[in-house]
Amino acid sequence: MVNIAIVGAGVSGLSCAWYLERLLPNAHIDLIEASDRVGGVIQTHTESPFLAELGADNIATLAPDGLKLIEAMGIRNEFVSPNPKYRFAQVVQAGRVYPIPNGFSLMQPTQMAAILMSPILSLSGRLRILGEYFVKARNINEDESVESFAVRRLGRECFDRLVEPIVGGIFTARSETLSMQATMAQFVEMEKNHGGLIRAAFAKRKSEQRSDTMARKATGARYDQFMAPKLGMSWWMNTIRAQLKSQLHLNTRVDNLAYTQNGKLKIATANTALSDKEYDHVCVATPGWVASKLIDGVNSDASALLDRIPYVSSAVAILAIRKSEIRPESMCFGIVIPKVENRDTLAISLSSEKYAERCPADTVLARVFMGGAVRPELMDQSDETLLAIAIKESQSLLGVTSPPMWQRLIRWNCAMPQYLIGHCDAVQDIRKDLESTKNLSIIGNAFDGVGIPQCIRLARTTAEKIANSFALSVLLLACLARSLYFSG
Ligand SMILES: Cc1cc2nc3c(=O)[nH]c(=O)nc-3n(C[C@H](O)[C@H](O)[C@H](O)COP(=O)(O)OP(=O)(O)OC[C@H]3O[C@@H](n4cnc5c(N)ncnc54)[C@H](O)[C@@H]3O)c2cc1C
Repeated sequence: MVNIAIVGAGVSGLSCAWYLERLLPNAHIDLIEASDRVGGVIQTHTESPFLAELGADNIATLAPDGLKLIEAMGIRNEFVSPNPKYRFAQVVQAGRVYPIPNGFSLMQPTQMAAILMSPILSLSGRLRILGEYFVKARNINEDESVESFAVRRLGRECFDRLVEPIVGGIFTARSETLSMQATMAQFVEMEKNHGGLIRAAFAKRKSEQRSDTMARKATGARYDQFMAPKLGMSWWMNTIRAQLKSQLHLNTRVDNLAYTQNGKLKIATANTALSDKEYDHVCVATPGWVASKLIDGVNSDASALLDRIPYVSSAVAILAIRKSEIRPESMCFGIVIPKVENRDTLAISLSSEKYAERCPADTVLARVFMGGAVRPELMDQSDETLLAIAIKESQSLLGVTSPPMWQRLIRWNCAMPQYLIGHCDAVQDIRKDLESTKNLSIIGNAFDGVGIPQCIRLARTTAEKIANSFALSVLLLACLARSLYFSG
């Protein structure tokens, strides 16, 4: 019998347990969670007639690991695609909202005519974007910031007005310190392989020999590449939990880890049944800064490196608004707000327009994002002040006149890692340091991506490594027994 502990029951811990159970059916797994529920920053609040996502509200399907897990769980039919009606995003310009030009996806212009017609940028700003075609590729391999890459290739105006709000919003980060290699590696590759973003778009179109209409119509994020559970993200997390045999221990905080004399691991927690146990393997699936504290006693170097990955806090206000009050031109999936606009909010997502049946047909559920690395000082404000800011923004940007019919505020404290320039090297250093630490793995959003599919991928590959390590031990033991038998 192999004893394994997984610390943290967010999507990383849950999916690691799910895969481990299938790879090591005889293992005993304790899934240990500090809070009173599973899901971590994935949390759906259901209060009839509203279904409100307080944290993540969907997953990308292009990075396939989320979809693969869903299919393996046999629940693909419970997921839906975004509503086609308002499948586009807008950006704020001088206090008003304008559509992001067609085909401008994250930071790649793919439709030149749409860029030329866009009222968001000055004529020189638009021509500068088209001039990206002639910008020489950088020939050094060093990481750079998203700001540096975007200004270099697309110009300052395009960065300030489009790239900063779109990319900064996704990562709740400051683009001047956000690592290109860790967050937008696909565009670094485009520059390397094709000489630039527009050249890469032309090459793709040519190779496909057909126009990819979805790609050309998408703005901001590629909404055709997302999906969400009909019944909300917590339903998915609870379904993973329901499919597990692992023993789940809620309301159980782990304080640190220590080795026993025989190289097994013990966990310090108030639950003595668990703290008395010796584990063959412990997988830490918490935010990086928590993992850093937990492993301090077993690998202080890796702990110190992990602690250098900063996490920021944010708040989401959810407002139920009368649909009839929203200006028709403001209806879309989401509005991103450039830092240069000097407003108190980062973005507004009209979540009920993205996915059906989240509220009554005459109502819209808007999610207003605040804080992050761009406006950390706002997190010192009271809930009432943050809700008042969100309501004011809904009046100004959506045209709403009445107070919301329902409202709720959630804070996500130190939940979002910041992948600073050099993040990939830092992660490599942490992994190298951890190589010498036996029977311990660390997963979660501090490493290879903040998105749910990336967290699931790391959880799956780690589960495979853990299972392989036990398979190898069993093989070695069998060989040893065989040689003892023959020599004896
Ligand atoms: C507001 C917001 C919106 C987002 N939207 C999206 C989105 O739409 N799509 C997307 O793909 N990604 C999104 N993300 C990112 C994504 O949701 C997260 O990166 C991912 O869910 C992290 O999962 P995790 O399991 O690694 O960590 P967490 O969800 O942080 O889970 C860690 C768990 O560990 C537990 N824990 C902590 N300390 C201890 C301890 N000492 N002992 C025991 N347990 C402990 C915590 O209680 C928690 O349950 C969003 C993130 C935020 C904050």
